[in-house]
Amino acid sequence: MKKIILSVVSISILAMVLVGCGAKPASSNDDIIIMGTNAEFAPFEYREGKEVVGFDVEISKKIAEKLGKELKIEDMKFEGLLAALEAGKVDFVIAGMTKDKEREKQVDFSDSYFLSSQLITIKADDTSINSGEDLKGKKIGVQLGTTGEREARDIEGAEVISFDKGAMALVDLANGKIDAVILDAEPTKNYTEGNDDLRVLDEQLTEEEYCIAVPKGNKELLELINLTLKEIQESGEYEQFINKYF
Ligand code: GLN
Repeated sequence: MKKIILSVVSISILAMVLVGCGAKPASSNDDIIIMGTNAEFAPFEYREGKEVVGFDVEISKKIAEKLGKELKIEDMKFEGLLAALEAGKVDFVIAGMTKDKEREKQVDFSDSYFLSSQLITIKADDTSINSGEDLKGKKIGVQLGTTGEREARDIEGAEVISFDKGAMALVDLANGKIDAVILDAEPTKNYTEGNDDLRVLDEQLTEEEYCIAVPKGNKELLELINLTLKEIQESGEYEQFINKYF
């Protein structure tokens, strides 16, 4: 009898371990799929009133449609996104997120859906900064947990100040609290447009690929996402989203 009980217990423990290790879906509800993002990154994701909209949202709607599920959006801090994905709180992450070696240890990435770079913004009247080289020893604003932050931390003698929102870094730059901001190209253009106090340098500090992150090993979802990306390119919808948001 003891033996039987023991084996029942060990089988249940084994079962629990196996379930715990599997790539479990975030949504306990089969009808929804949850996208994780940080809606502070126009035109990829931002708020229009209460609603989260943007280029990445359009792509996500297509993914949900392909799955026959309803899309739910979880808006959170950028630096917490991959942990939320690993913890199963969201099903995939799309947030203008750059694929890189460090992140690939944690999650799997889709094919690239957008090419980007980091740009430097300075005060329009600042003649001391004309390239990335001139940022040595300067006070640089970045968004926390981003590739732009990493780039800035590699600059000799620079004092790096991390903000939750890239747009806040630009506000501090405009107010003269910092010397420069390093931020992704499209949000930089978006948030500096029409602001004559700021100037964006032409130099591209990096070459980056935006990709969608899924939990490690979730091949099925990854393939469906890659297929969706391919289909929207071929159907011309990708082009329509570009025209709408850029
Ligand atoms: N592309 C940058 C990164 O992946 C910034 C993304 C963002 O701030 N949403 O780190």
